[in-house]
Amino acid sequence: MKAATPRPRIGVALCTCRGEISGGLDLTHLKAAALRLPDVVAVEEAGELCMKEGQEWLREFILRNRIDRVVIGGCTPRLYEDTVARALVSVGLNRHTMEMVNLREQCVWPHRDKARATEKAELMLSAAVARASSLEPLEPCPAPVTKAALVLGGGVAGMQAALDLARLGARVYLVEATGGLGGRTYKLSTTFPTQECKPDGCCIHYCRECVLTPKIEEVLQHPRIEVLLNSRLKELSGGLGAYRALLVTPTGQIEVMVGVIVVATGSRLIDARRFPELGYGIHPDVVTSLELEEMAVEARKSDGAIRRPSDGKTPNTISFIQCVGSRDTTGRGRAHCSLVCCTYAIGQAKELKRRLPGARIYIHYIDLRGPYRGFEEHYLEARQMGIEFVRGKVAEVKKSGGGLVVVAEDIDTGRLLRIRTDLVVLSVGQEASDGTDELSRLLRIPLDRDGFLREYNPAFDMLKRKGVAVVGCAAGPRGIRYSVEDARAAAAALGELLAAGEIEAEAVRAEVDESRCSGCRQCEALCPMGAITTKPRVDHKRGVKRVVASVSPAQCSACGACATACPSKAIAVRNHKLRQLMDQIEALG
Ligand code: SF4
Ligand code: SF4
Repeated sequence: MKAATPRPRIGVALCTCRGEISGGLDLTHLKAAALRLPDVVAVEEAGELCMKEGQEWLREFILRNRIDRVVIGGCTPRLYEDTVARALVSVGLNRHTMEMVNLREQCVWPHRDKARATEKAELMLSAAVARASSLEPLEPCPAPVTKAALVLGGGVAGMQAALDLARLGARVYLVEATGGLGGRTYKLSTTFPTQECKPDGCCIHYCRECVLTPKIEEVLQHPRIEVLLNSRLKELSGGLGAYRALLVTPTGQIEVMVGVIVVATGSRLIDARRFPELGYGIHPDVVTSLELEEMAVEARKSDGAIRRPSDGKTPNTISFIQCVGSRDTTGRGRAHCSLVCCTYAIGQAKELKRRLPGARIYIHYIDLRGPYRGFEEHYLEARQMGIEFVRGKVAEVKKSGGGLVVVAEDIDTGRLLRIRTDLVVLSVGQEASDGTDELSRLLRIPLDRDGFLREYNPAFDMLKRKGVAVVGCAAGPRGIRYSVEDARAAAAALGELLAAGEIEAEAVRAEVDESRCSGCRQCEALCPMGAITTKPRVDHKRGVKRVVASVSPAQCSACGACATACPSKAIAVRNHKLRQLMDQIEALG
């Protein structure tokens, strides 16, 4: 007689989360309710399970009660599942014999009524226990990593990431949408903090002459970097270690296989024409800060003199207007601060003052923001040089005689100023670059509230799960130095993945029951990750050859789309099989 399969022994651990959970739920009621559920042998409250003490308690709880399935009522599995699972593994349990219920974010935080929240928590625990009964121990599967990287964006961050990854031995495809490398940085004449250009070796700034040009050359000449200009990503499939990217280049479409991806697509400047009251596009002597940089670069080629565009006259009065398009709540600009504009406007003003010592230079600002070391000294030096800072918004820039008049409030004196000026410089803010929405879709990276690609919190190891890093201004405005640092950090983390040569593919993934598969290929057509292919099989029973579906473990994201489509019920995601899902639903009553 066949021995009966022993019933699982399920333990339920309810994390108090320093009062976050225990304060919003009736844990006494929950414990009693959970203890009545099938196969539950123990229910206890725990301190913080994310902490060392909590994990020690969990180990002891499992061993004391001879538990083989664990249900955790706690916080978000997204952040803490790995941490808690390590405690299971350390006492010999498989990490996939755990089910985690998010009582904090999904129960306590959204519901103020404690009784209703407890009612919902009870249902969630019932469903989790039902699922835990049929959880199977799963093992990860090693999957090879393609030692190649795709870098999107050939600005300063993208070039740095490409160089660092190539130096670590990876083949790099550097894809740039425009016809040249260098991005916006290449248009700058000088940059913070030195604002100088000394070709004598003592210079520490990042302008194109001293840093960018050699970097561009190094990228172009590196044997492991392939630069694809005027190119873009069209399609992406696969996953960490094995991404398949379809690129559109001037010579046609090419497909490349890469293990990791760096997104360094930068930002774009907000179009100042959205603010017609400031005169951009109407008066030629109203320019953007980037256009002033281009004027400075051009001037350097001749006598060094800055001249206003309308008549080539040297300006005697220059007005900078801050926050054009940034910190804007009218819907014409963006609500965020663009972070770098105050710093570079002061730098540009100082540069102009050096070149035109007799000129009056005003900076109109709402408040000055300089989140960089050295900013305070930068600002104080500008004041000492005689640059005039006017706090308040600018209402209008209008034509008057042969020049312009800036109408602005001065909050400190309470007066409305009318300043005759020869040249107006708009410190335009930054917003997400063209094509960001499309990249968000292709890379499955959500946008943040400002429309930039959301970067992973570096405090967590999310980068290594997906192998995609968002660096530099693609993730929001930041200075050159910080963009470079971002790129270097990402390249180091991704380089480590590439160097390992293989990854442990997620154990939770789709698998095919070949005896049921009819080879209809519906799943292959539907899989968003391109994880399914078909392969020939000999059916010895029937003595025929046929094709069956096959899943690439590294590429499968366990989305379940294939399982819902398969007419033969031949493909399912491990531990998310139909019976298991039905058990959960039925437990909800
Ligand atoms: S679960 Fe299926 S459809 Fe989804 S990624 Fe995996 S193989 Fe593709
Ligand atoms: S849909 Fe189902 S039957 Fe068709 S190939 Fe995929 S696994 Fe096989």
